[in-house]
Amino acid sequence: MTPFSYERAADAADAVRRAAGPAAKYLGGGTNLVDLMRETIERPQRLVDVTGLSAEIAENADGGLVIGAAARNTAVAEDRLVRRRYPVLARAILAGASAQIRNMATVGGNILQRTRCIYFYDDEGSRCNKREPGQGCDAIGGFNRNHAILGASPSCIATHPSDMAVALVALDARVQLRGAGGERSVALAELYRPPGDRPDLETVLQPGELITEISLPAAPLAARSDYRKVRDRASYAFALVSVAAALSVDDGRVSDVRLAFGGVAHRPWRAWKAEAALRGARAEAGAFAAAAEAELAAAEPLKDNAFKVDLLRRTMIAALEQLAGDRA
Ligand SMILES: Cc1cc2nc3c(=O)[nH]c(=O)nc-3n(C[C@H](O)[C@H](O)[C@H](O)COP(=O)(O)OP(=O)(O)OC[C@H]3O[C@@H](n4cnc5c(N)ncnc54)[C@H](O)[C@@H]3O)c2cc1C
Ligand code: SF4
Repeated sequence: MTPFSYERAADAADAVRRAAGPAAKYLGGGTNLVDLMRETIERPQRLVDVTGLSAEIAENADGGLVIGAAARNTAVAEDRLVRRRYPVLARAILAGASAQIRNMATVGGNILQRTRCIYFYDDEGSRCNKREPGQGCDAIGGFNRNHAILGASPSCIATHPSDMAVALVALDARVQLRGAGGERSVALAELYRPPGDRPDLETVLQPGELITEISLPAAPLAARSDYRKVRDRASYAFALVSVAAALSVDDGRVSDVRLAFGGVAHRPWRAWKAEAALRGARAEAGAFAAAAEAELAAAEPLKDNAFKVDLLRRTMIAALEQLAGDRA
């Protein structure tokens, strides 16, 4: 591990001030960052601990929720309002990691956790454009069973590992940011950059910019929502594919829907085309299958992961059928 200093921020302004300058990183629960530091893939010289910042989960004036970025994953999953109004979020969190890791992990750290591409971690034997821009990508011709089928680039085919972020993107979450230049708010779906030719630049965050909170708009349809995750083991495994879904049905027809996918792209994948195909359609298997086709027409499976296309299609249809059935 490269030597580093540790400081604890008193509040958001203090955190931003302390993180100014090169080679500083914010520290949440450390469950991803410290692993990467041990492997010398991340080499910050200064850590600014932000776990003392707001962890509050509160209702906002519009009937939505505001979640402090330092809230622990467990606290969010167990929150009464989250469970009642946004069950998809609670279920996505509980589908991730282990109870011990969820107790440590923060919301800010979870959505900024880095890919689990095995070549990214193998800094002694593999080429990786995300670790070292311009180096090449050994996953493209290598073992790519866990990699992307949507939105990849010739430079990187990695997937984003967060379950929570998939639910948050489906729920139209926004992130509140604070940096040296002031505050701004960004849709979470827009926080993540597509890989392009610089997969090392994963978000639109400016250097030193801090996530202070996440806001969820009021969404009555989210009261009946679900998260389905398919993985190699029943627990303690990242998604092969996952689906966050919320559905509202009136008179047998889809009046509103939200869909996002995990495990299949460089960022949580909002299924806009599937949503558009579903609005106004009959809430039945044929329409769900057609919507899946509309979204997955753009899929570009790799040598080892063609199975993901069918797995995702079936997972999406099953999630929608269950939600439609719940309303019957
Ligand atoms: C064995 C194992 C299994 C796992 N399985 C899953 C799984 O199935 N699903 C899943 O979703 N996750 C899984 N995880 C990942 C885990 O959820 C993440 O490690 C965790 O959520 C990261 O949160 P953290 O607070 O510990 O982040 P940290 O490790 O502290 O930070 C992660 C990144 O976020 C940055 N950061 C933190 N807070 C802020 C902030 N407020 N503003 C700006 N930047 C910030 C840090 O600088 C760092 O770059 C697993 C982890 C392990 C070790
Ligand atoms: S897929 Fe991305 S993270 Fe994995 S080796 Fe290639 S460039 Fe690196």
